[in-house]
Amino acid sequence: MTKQLSVAIVGAGMGGLAAASTLRQAGIDVQVYEQARKFARIGAGIQMLPNSSRVLRGIGVEQKVRATAFEPYSHLNRVWDTGELKRELPMPESLYGAPFLCMHRGDLHEALLSNVPSGIVHLGKKLTGIEQAKDQVTLSFADGTSATADAVIGADGVHSLVREIVVGPDKPLHKGRIAYRGVFDSALMGGKTIKPSRTKWWGPDRHIVIYYTRADRSEIYFVTSVPEPADWITEESWSAKGDVNELRAAYAGFHDEVLSVLDACPECHKWAILEREPLPTWSKGRIALLGDACHPMTPYMAQGAATSIEDAAVLARSFVAAQNDVGHAFAIYEATRKPRTSRIQAISSANTWMQGGNEDTSWLYGYDAFNTPLVDPAKQ
Ligand code: FAD
Repeated sequence: MTKQLSVAIVGAGMGGLAAASTLRQAGIDVQVYEQARKFARIGAGIQMLPNSSRVLRGIGVEQKVRATAFEPYSHLNRVWDTGELKRELPMPESLYGAPFLCMHRGDLHEALLSNVPSGIVHLGKKLTGIEQAKDQVTLSFADGTSATADAVIGADGVHSLVREIVVGPDKPLHKGRIAYRGVFDSALMGGKTIKPSRTKWWGPDRHIVIYYTRADRSEIYFVTSVPEPADWITEESWSAKGDVNELRAAYAGFHDEVLSVLDACPECHKWAILEREPLPTWSKGRIALLGDACHPMTPYMAQGAATSIEDAAVLARSFVAAQNDVGHAFAIYEATRKPRTSRIQAISSANTWMQGGNEDTSWLYGYDAFNTPLVDPAKQ
């Protein structure tokens, strides 16, 4: 009998947990190593466009998130002060065969976590190094322990150590823009409501995206992009606080619907918007990258977690296609995924998506990570 392939995933974020599910579906023995000692419920919303909710369906978590998630009527783009329509794309499930869902980030994380056996997710395991031998990889952790596997997936986010091991040290790009974000009880709106769409308000040099995160409309989320003169950055990316008065000042003059949200919001967080150019390679020997560790992007197309989740589906299919030959699987994975993630990174960086015009959205939202043809460089 052939030995079951073992894969160690570094990072239990959206991408790492999705990969734990897809690789297990492919019959692989998976262990996940996460630096956090416990999972905090990060105060943020997240959009799952049909391309990623299709993967959530494939791994069996769609119903769980749908139980509480808000299904926006449309992708709505409006002018910052007049509210004039720039572009609206109604998003019924029938359009791309999978739903457009907005939810609390914590609910998505919880659903992905609950989809894998708790015994395979090891907390308090901060990766400090990886040694590769011919047939095996050894991971070292800050607590002095180590683990071995046949292959490693670096799903350790935008400040990834695994990425540094694969392609060498460098810094993510910070183009002098930050995001404020806040999630709060809609009762604080004093009876005012927002449109049942995911609305992006486009200003001359800044924007704000607003939506409900729960089906009962009891919670509102917003996320912005604002120029920040100082190169503000923090390693404590998800937990750094912002000043709600600075935020309100930055959006003075915006439409009343925006102002009513910012007036009601009791507190906010602040996040440096980081991105990278596409990497020259996604793997080295028995180590490969996934998600933000590999292709971090601005949040402007709501595709960072989505592409991590797509990666997970294609990675598992690549192992199956390569009959668990690790190097071959990684070659298929990169060749299949990189053109798409590079294209999304570039459009997201330019922040032009759906700002007007009538560009085709089917290549993005209609993508089916479980059925898209795999590209095998060995057969080119
Ligand atoms: P992460 O979620 O960052 O997870 C990485 C994990 O690795 C973490 O748990 C971390 O603790 C762990 N880790 C790091 N280093 C180590 C180590 N040395 N050892 C062990 N563990 C380690 N995307 C969408 O699809 N839709 C959206 O609506 C959306 N909105 C966004 C809004 C904002 C403001 C921002 C900033 C991003 C948004 N994104 C969105 C992008 C999305 O959040 C990221 O792309 C996504 O979280 C990437 O997932 P990941 O698993 O690759 O990395």
